[in-house]
Amino acid sequence: MAFEEYAQFVGEETIERIWKKARPLHDREVVHMSSTYYGGGVATMLAPLSILMNNLEIKTEWRIIQGNPDFFAFTKSVHNAIQGAEIELLEHPKWVYEQVNRENAVRNHLHHDFVVVHDPQPLPLIESYPQSRPWIWRCHIDLTSPNMALWKYLRRFIDQYQAVIVSIPDYEQDIHPPQFFFMPAIDPFSMTNVPLGEEHIDAILAKYNIPTDLPLVAQVSRFDRWKDPNGVIEAFRIAQRDVDATLVLVGAPATDDPEGQAIYESLLSQQSERILIIHQENSLLVNALQRRAAVVLQKSLREGFGLTVAEAMWKGTPVIGGKVGGIRYQIRDGINGYLVASTTEAAGRIVQLLKDDGLRARMGEAARETVRRKFLLTRLLEQYIDLLNSFEVHFHVRENHQIEQAMLEPDPEVEAIARPHK
Ligand code: UDP
Repeated sequence: MAFEEYAQFVGEETIERIWKKARPLHDREVVHMSSTYYGGGVATMLAPLSILMNNLEIKTEWRIIQGNPDFFAFTKSVHNAIQGAEIELLEHPKWVYEQVNRENAVRNHLHHDFVVVHDPQPLPLIESYPQSRPWIWRCHIDLTSPNMALWKYLRRFIDQYQAVIVSIPDYEQDIHPPQFFFMPAIDPFSMTNVPLGEEHIDAILAKYNIPTDLPLVAQVSRFDRWKDPNGVIEAFRIAQRDVDATLVLVGAPATDDPEGQAIYESLLSQQSERILIIHQENSLLVNALQRRAAVVLQKSLREGFGLTVAEAMWKGTPVIGGKVGGIRYQIRDGINGYLVASTTEAAGRIVQLLKDDGLRARMGEAARETVRRKFLLTRLLEQYIDLLNSFEVHFHVRENHQIEQAMLEPDPEVEAIARPHK
C-alpha cells in the first residue's frame, strides 16, 4: 500500500513529517535480518515495514537466515530462556548456533549502511563483520526476567551492537549499547486487518466449520506454552457455567518454532462441539475471527508485545489480556479491555463482557482509538527513521526519546470514549 494511503488514519501532517525525516536517508541501504518469513509477530511487522521504508526511498531489504532443526531447537530454547525458563548451555548446541550464523554471514554480504538484526536467532551474525557500520539488535521478546546464565552468554554478541531496541522500558537491561523502546505496531492494510464484509466473514468461518449460532470467544496465537492455551480452555470452561458460547483457538505453524506441533497435539483431547482448535496459517481466518468474536483473549504468561491484541482492538473487539509484559501497555484495564492474572479472573471477564453489549461496544470503540493513536505502523516507521537519522558520523547514536515518551502517557480522549454514555 502506498505510504500516502496511511493519511486516512493518521492525518496528512504525520505523513508529511515522516517524508521529511526520511529525506536524509534516501538511497541509504538497510537490511532487516530475521529467521522466518511467516508465523509470529516479527514477520508480520517486517513484511509491510520493509515495503514502507522502500516507499520512502530508503533501500531496504528483508532477509531470512537459514538453519537446520538443531539450530532452531536451540534458538527456541534460547527464546524460552530469555522469557525466564531454564536452559542447558552445552558446548555443541552453542557451536551449532554460532556456526550456522557464520555460514549465513558468508552467504549474506551484509555491507549495508544499517543492519537491523531481529531476535536471538541471527544475533551472532555481527561477529563475522568488521564494525564500520551501525548494527542494531531488535529484541521482540519479553525481557521481564531473563535467565541470567543465558543472558551472560548472549552479551558476548549484544555488546558489539551500536544500539538495542526493546519493546517497553521495563525490559531495559544492563548492557553496553544504548537502549530504545519501540512498541510494535500493526498494518491496517494487511490481509489480517483489512475491512471484511459480514457475508465474507460468514463464508470464511463456514469454511472452517466454525458455528456462529452462539457468541464466539477466540484466541489467535502460535501454539506456545507462554500463550497459555490450557489456561484459555480452563477459563472458557468456567465461563460456560454462566454463558453459552463457542471457543476457537487458532494457531499457525512457524518455521522457527519447532515446539508448536507438539503443543497443538497436546490440546486436541480437549476439543468438543464448543471448543475448536485449529492449526492453520490463514490471515483471512484470523481477520474474520477477530472481527466476529464477541471477546478476544490473549491470556499470555509472557508477551514481549501482543500484535494479536492490537489487531483485535483495531477491529473494535474487546480483548482480555494477561497482565504481563507489553500487554500492560496496550490494554488499560477497564478502559479499552481487561487485564487478568488468573484463569478465574479471565472467566469472570468473559462472562461480564458476553452479558453486556453496551460495555463491549464502548470498550471496543476505545480499543480501536487506542490503536489508531499509538499502534499503527507509521508510528513504528517514524521511530526507526529517527533512530537511523540519529547515528552521527559512523556509529554514535544521538538519543532522542520524544515518541517513546508520548507512548507512555495516558490518553484522555480514549478514556472519554470508554466512560458510560449518559
Ligand atoms: N498469526 C497468524 N495466524 C495464527 C497465529 C498468529 O497469522 O494462527 C499472526 C497474528 O495475527 C500476529 C502474529 O502472527 O500478527 C503474532 O504476533 P504476536 O506479537 O501476537 O505473537 P508472537 O507470535 O510474535 O509471539
